[in-house]
Amino acid sequence: MEVTIVGAGLVGCLLACYLSRRGHEVTLYERRPDPRTAGAERGRSINLAVSERGIDALRRLGLDEMALADALPMPGRMMHATDGTLTFQPYSADGAHAINSISRAALNRKLLDAAEARPNVTAKFGHRLVGIGHGTLEFETDAGLVTEKGQQVVIGADGARSAVRARLQAMQGTNFSQEYLDYGYKELTIPPKLGEFAFDPGALHIWPRGRSMMIALPNPDKSFTCTLFWPHEALAGLDTPEKIRAHFTQEYPDAAEVMPHLASDYARNPVGHLVTVRCDPWHGEVGGTLLGLVGDAAHAIVPFYGQGANCGFQDCVELDRCLEETGDDFGRALELFQRRKADTDVIARLALDNFVEMRDKVGSRVFLAQKRIEHA
Ligand code: FAD
Repeated sequence: MEVTIVGAGLVGCLLACYLSRRGHEVTLYERRPDPRTAGAERGRSINLAVSERGIDALRRLGLDEMALADALPMPGRMMHATDGTLTFQPYSADGAHAINSISRAALNRKLLDAAEARPNVTAKFGHRLVGIGHGTLEFETDAGLVTEKGQQVVIGADGARSAVRARLQAMQGTNFSQEYLDYGYKELTIPPKLGEFAFDPGALHIWPRGRSMMIALPNPDKSFTCTLFWPHEALAGLDTPEKIRAHFTQEYPDAAEVMPHLASDYARNPVGHLVTVRCDPWHGEVGGTLLGLVGDAAHAIVPFYGQGANCGFQDCVELDRCLEETGDDFGRALELFQRRKADTDVIARLALDNFVEMRDKVGSRVFLAQKRIEHA
């Protein structure tokens, strides 16, 4: 069967690998230029914590070692109190289990390589899907509008603002909601300090401050990618280098000391939005073309549980299973795949709950641990 996947992000690429293994002819359409030749978007590097949920999906195709070759294991989280006290909280009782810090862009490039290495996968970059008609897909390209005809199956792996989902939303019977947090995020960098990591690379670092929170994940070049979560108006309020420095010196003093480019990074990097998307069903039909959704296109979640990409990877395993159960009948498989929604609804709720846990409660534990030490 010929299958079109819209979006060559993490999930689109992995799904292309799964479908090609089943013998399908896959064409991936991606709006951006090829990320292996184009540079990264400033302030949007995003480091992922990849966990067993996602690794399992990679392992089933033998892609885990390649994908995680540059990943840095984080067996616990390191809490930073305002007075500089550090508290390590392991993620597992025996300390043996870790989540893995990996650059989203690097992982995407590797998965693109893996998809394109398969004989029955073709990728077309610079193709932004702008319309789905009866038996046609319309793409915006540098050469103008391009119309492709005759697709039987179109899977939207085109992220939180999916164009495929927009077509489904226009159909009667589709339920949809999107919920933005009043928090945004800004990426910052802690460069290497005298050629070494400024903090322990074997941890996900968290600065819980109640109304705001900063996290930092290690990179192979010994830097850390930091993400500051804060209400939009507060983020906008730091509008001079002096205010930026003063705020960080007060709230994140140990980090501020090792962020020489803080003020310029803060001023230049964009503010990201945090959204939860719910859509039901994830499939439909337009003029004989089957449409389906996977990954963030189906269920974008806020990043506080570190599970968006992991869940998207798991979608690929589940859709593969549904195809197996239906003898590769895409219509029935996409209907069956809807059973996964109960799980993604739960993770969406847990991700929202974990924001409160990370920014308040883990901090309270630091506070309690300090109190225990003071009274010992
Ligand atoms: P995307 O990564 O959004 O990819 C969609 C692709 O489709 C893109 O390449 C895009 O260019 C393309 N596209 C979009 N529209 C069109 C169109 N009209 N036509 C053609 N192509 C199109 N997840 C984790 O598992 N662990 C983490 O620790 C984690 N941390 C995160 C931290 C932050 C700050 C954020 C914002 C997210 C985080 N996530 C994390 C979530 C994770 O990044 C996403 O869940 C994941 O990238 C979703 O993959 P996707 O392929 O479904 O969508």
